[in-house]
Amino acid sequence: MASTRPPLFPDKIDLEVKDFAQITLEVLAGDYPDATTELIFKNPYELLVATILSAQSTDKRVNQVTPKLFKQFPSPDTLATANLLHLQMLIRSTGCFRVKSRSLIQMASALVNNHAGEVPATIKSLLELPGVGRKTANVLLTHGFSRPGFPVDRHVLRVCNRLALIKTMDATNAEFELKNIFRRSEWAHASDVLIQHGRKICKTRPGCDDCCIRERCKYALQRASEQPTKRQTT
Ligand code: SF4
Repeated sequence: MASTRPPLFPDKIDLEVKDFAQITLEVLAGDYPDATTELIFKNPYELLVATILSAQSTDKRVNQVTPKLFKQFPSPDTLATANLLHLQMLIRSTGCFRVKSRSLIQMASALVNNHAGEVPATIKSLLELPGVGRKTANVLLTHGFSRPGFPVDRHVLRVCNRLALIKTMDATNAEFELKNIFRRSEWAHASDVLIQHGRKICKTRPGCDDCCIRERCKYALQRASEQPTKRQTT
């Protein structure tokens, strides 16, 4: 796929990190024009439940579980009074089901008791909910409320460190650094594109030969420089 592409940025070597990030996003977005969350949901409540379930799991697995879950617990007040063992059985296949079950019931109770059964639309209030960390809160902001947010998951961390956009594996630090690097209006889009790239190409074992950004990737360039030359191997 990538072998037919022209070299990237052939006349620009030392781009500022923000320029580099912007061009990188434009190039990557060409490969993932429809990048968005793969979780299936109808409202912020369903997205919140699905995102909590997605920890240590896959969106595909969560989407297999949620139709039955949402049918039985269509609202925070129904979930708040769920039987713990029954809930555990329903979500068992997503992993960490004991912790997730407790978090879901506590989260739903907090929505009922503190937010009139509605999911709040601010990061401060979202972070106060049981089971909700910064990634989940940012997913809610971006995909639940169309507000600026930058979800940072393991894919974003891996890809952005390899591209040398950031030098941290701490998700909170990465979120703030990436928010500074990318335009506010593109935070959600950048996160979606980076997640897709991490899932499809820049996996734990990266598919650099098929990567549209490989000519400017620090990780790929470093690896190439470490390859033994013909002279050294003969
Ligand atoms: S060149 Fe390789 S390491 Fe760099 S972003 Fe692409 S797949 Fe990831």
